[in-house]
Amino acid sequence: MERVWAARAGLGWAGANGLLTTPGYGSWVFLGVILTTLPLAPDVPLESRCGMCRLCMQSCPTRAIVAPGVIDARRCIAYHTVENRGDIPEEVQRQMGEWVFGCDICQEVCPWNARPVVTTERRFDPVNHDIEPGVVELSEDAFNARFAGSAIRRAKREGIRRNMGIVGRG
Ligand code: SF4
Ligand code: SF4
Repeated sequence: MERVWAARAGLGWAGANGLLTTPGYGSWVFLGVILTTLPLAPDVPLESRCGMCRLCMQSCPTRAIVAPGVIDARRCIAYHTVENRGDIPEEVQRQMGEWVFGCDICQEVCPWNARPVVTTERRFDPVNHDIEPGVVELSEDAFNARFAGSAIRRAKREGIRRNMGIVGRG
């Protein structure tokens, strides 16, 4: 995983929420990799700066973070709403709230994310990929066209329809 290499490269540390957390940007970062034969002096890996904080573990609605840095995907709303192609367990469904695609609670509560830096990179600007109620009516082709270039397509049309059905009941 990229975050392991990022931590070894001194960019940050693996937070209790399992995400690379950086001193300057928290966990709201994209990780990229460049493979090169250039001899570069490595930075020193950072020690964890989570300290006594356990906010992410305490705030997770399904208690999916079972130990610092250990996420039980079977309980994680993000896993189920994005990756799971089957049925979502009832106990997870009950905690989904309004999360139709993913869940960022364990990032939102992190003190290292309290003052997010807004990028000036225009290619990272938000695009209109809101999931409106009418999305359930879209054909497969219309869904793929609507969300072209968006990570939302990872859940596929059927996954989003399933998730909206669960959230709509809540
Ligand atoms: S993404 Fe949501 S459900 Fe998954 S570990 Fe984080 S807070 Fe818990
Ligand atoms: S919420 Fe606290 S424990 Fe969790 S990753 Fe952020 S600093 Fe670490």
